[in-house]
Amino acid sequence: MAAPLTDQEKRKQISIRGIVGVENVAEIKKGFNRHLHFTLVKDRNVATPRDYYFALAHTVRDHLVGRWIRTQQFYYETDPKRVYYLSLEFYMGRALQNTMINLGLQNACDESIYQLGLDMEDLEEMEEDAGLGNGGLGRLAACFLDSMATLGLAAYGYGIRYEYGIFNQRIKDGWQVEEADDWLRHGNPWEKARPEFMLPVHYYGRVEETEEGSKWVDTQVVLAMPYDTPIPGYMNNTVNTMRLWSARAPNDFNLKDFNVGDYIQAVLDRNLAENISRVLYPNDNFFEGKELRLKQEYFVVAATLQDVIRRFKTSKMSSGGPLSFDTFPDKVAIQLNDTHPAMAIPELMRIFVDIEKLDWDTAWDITKRTFAYTNHTVLPEALERWPVELLETLLPRHLQIIYRINQAHLDHIASLFPEDLDRIRRMSLIEEDGGKRVNMAHLCIVGSHAVNGVAEIHSNIIKTDIFRDFSELEPDKFQNKTNGITPRRWLLLCNPGLADLIAEAIGEDYVKDLSQLQKLNEFVDDDAFIRDVSKVKQDNKLKFAQYLEKEYKVKINPASMFDVHVKRIHEYKRQLLNCLHIITMYNRIKKNPNAAFVPRTVIIGGKAAPGYHMAKMIIKLITSVADVVNNDPVVGNKLRVIYLENYRVSLAEKVIPATDLSEQISTAGTEASGTGNMKFMLNGALTIGTMDGANVEMAEEAGEENLFIFGMRVDDVAEMDNAGYDAMKYYKELPELKQVIDQIKSGFFSPRQPELFKEIIDMLFNHDRFKVFADFEDYIKCQERANVLYQDQKEWTKMVIKNIAASGKFSSDRTITDYATEIWGVEPTDLKIPPPSEPREAIEEAARALKL
Ligand SMILES: *Cc1c(COP(=O)(O)O)cnc(C)c1O
Repeated sequence: MAAPLTDQEKRKQISIRGIVGVENVAEIKKGFNRHLHFTLVKDRNVATPRDYYFALAHTVRDHLVGRWIRTQQFYYETDPKRVYYLSLEFYMGRALQNTMINLGLQNACDESIYQLGLDMEDLEEMEEDAGLGNGGLGRLAACFLDSMATLGLAAYGYGIRYEYGIFNQRIKDGWQVEEADDWLRHGNPWEKARPEFMLPVHYYGRVEETEEGSKWVDTQVVLAMPYDTPIPGYMNNTVNTMRLWSARAPNDFNLKDFNVGDYIQAVLDRNLAENISRVLYPNDNFFEGKELRLKQEYFVVAATLQDVIRRFKTSKMSSGGPLSFDTFPDKVAIQLNDTHPAMAIPELMRIFVDIEKLDWDTAWDITKRTFAYTNHTVLPEALERWPVELLETLLPRHLQIIYRINQAHLDHIASLFPEDLDRIRRMSLIEEDGGKRVNMAHLCIVGSHAVNGVAEIHSNIIKTDIFRDFSELEPDKFQNKTNGITPRRWLLLCNPGLADLIAEAIGEDYVKDLSQLQKLNEFVDDDAFIRDVSKVKQDNKLKFAQYLEKEYKVKINPASMFDVHVKRIHEYKRQLLNCLHIITMYNRIKKNPNAAFVPRTVIIGGKAAPGYHMAKMIIKLITSVADVVNNDPVVGNKLRVIYLENYRVSLAEKVIPATDLSEQISTAGTEASGTGNMKFMLNGALTIGTMDGANVEMAEEAGEENLFIFGMRVDDVAEMDNAGYDAMKYYKELPELKQVIDQIKSGFFSPRQPELFKEIIDMLFNHDRFKVFADFEDYIKCQERANVLYQDQKEWTKMVIKNIAASGKFSSDRTITDYATEIWGVEPTDLKIPPPSEPREAIEEAARALKL
């Protein structure tokens, strides 16, 4: 297939791009040597690959710190409005390569490491993922930090420094087994502890009514220690801060009252306090109402708001004059990533009313103008509804404040709809049925000036469905901000071959303005470009195949279609539908072994929440089907099924660039946006998907004919809900479906335990909320259309190019620009902060320039 290069094509290699100054290389080698010896205390005779990684990480970090300090000085001088992104999750992945790319150091580092006889990829593989997230929500927060820094916003990410991130997943006998993610074992070169800024967080206690107002007393105190991580913007000298809090017991913990005399026990009990930041809850899209989780949520909120208010009070503008909070919303925007940090709303009210002595109405007005809330899901089991009883014990003053907020809120509703008692019940912050609970989404809506969904279709659903009453009350509050991904990590870093090819075609400016990818439409009929794109994909597939062989001893056919379904395992994401397709393909091969078949490698990966039984059964089913398919000699090279163990950010970076077909097959109306879908589109995969989440907008951007769209739309699903979903009907009408289900039921894939999958079968027939069978037929047909196109590699690649060209909308730079201008009231800037090589006065100068 690969034709020889023409001379003109060969000469593309002659380019200024990627050339490094010798001084830079010499400096990096010097830094590397210095850190290996003085920081790590190793010489080359005893240094391990990990030591070399740390030596390089420290060298790169040295290039960050000057810019980091400079950026913070610049913010002090210019005193812009600060944006605070509050999130219980930041799914950062690795930092080394991202830092090198954003600082423009990658080529110099590559050359230095090469000259030292080391392998850059080997070193990069030594870095632990910062897995402080579950999936899309946490990864979104990480992409947003990159874009906020790249757009020059004075932004801060605030969260928890979990000692254990998302568990490591092993597959044993086809079952998921969890292992603790001890990611800090070897130290974290990217963080800086700031013990001098430690802050107290209070729990329990009681409320005392005094002449000066309510007082929260007799509390238990836990200290929050900040750890700062630098967030470099792309090539703009901006370095923002992600501040993560770690729980520390006060030194007098348990030594004052009941444990007097048992010093040893008191020291051992310090763990109780410090457990608050021990481990990330591993649920994706699921609410588990545990006390420790509520403690975590309040921990980040309480520590962060103290920091925010301290920064406001000591800012250049505020300091000196009399203290006033009137300007607070002009200086502070706080974005709540889902309801997880919702307690920030009553906490800010508590600070204003109880501590700063503002009157209630003033405090409420400032609070509402400060907060904005992003909803991430409509699934009822994911919505946080904390028992009143628990709040009463843990945060008694906050519960009082929530009740007072609710009183004013319901009075207002009652004044508008005096007879409508049901509406008042529906809109209450307190749910009464089955034990009193606080509906945290309702609290966030009432306490914010903006509420957004994360894709058009999702934002419409929240307006017309779950938050309908609220949107009728305040229609202008409800917005859409379609999610995005950072093109730095999800193109430059993970797919340098494609990034370079695009740069050759349209220049390098697209990295900061991804809409420029549209220019690639001019190359859709360019044979050389088509061949180059196809070649990059083939190289990526080969590389991924080599990785699988090296790490897992599995061989796959690089000429087959790589059909990839990676995301958290969830019934709504319908990995089961994919599994039914796999078995259907298997049955067709068995029925007709000599018929033509488009070879496929189906790769499925993702973690199941440890307590999610059905998700774990789904993994076992997939691995059991894989066992049968992969060991059947009749199948040969035509079909392989791989369960990709321990899917995480660094593995996403490997598999996504190697993908031909991206599976985005959730039941319409259930996936709020998805961001995996965007990563695949940008990396030259075609999408097979439902009209759900951001798939809808991907189809709109690329043209529906350039995606493989199938299945029910949201309206069809609603109609079926009204009529009643009858799984049996599809089973009876579709012979291939019947065969597949009969095989699973009869133990064909679990011969030693024929009953193993009976819960799955029972669910599919009797309580399948996500209607797998209803989309089966159309899904299979759609897969056949994908096969037909795949056989014509040229036409396939043309469609790939059209998709890449249409993916510009899904840059998180676009998303953040929209948040900045439509919610936060700040403006992105392409101003470059003077680097540390320039004198300090350059900052004041740049600050003045910005004010003009
Ligand atoms: C992007 C990403 C996700 C989100 O994927 P969806 O397909 O949108 O659910 C989850 N996990 C990781 C590691 C990711 O990089």
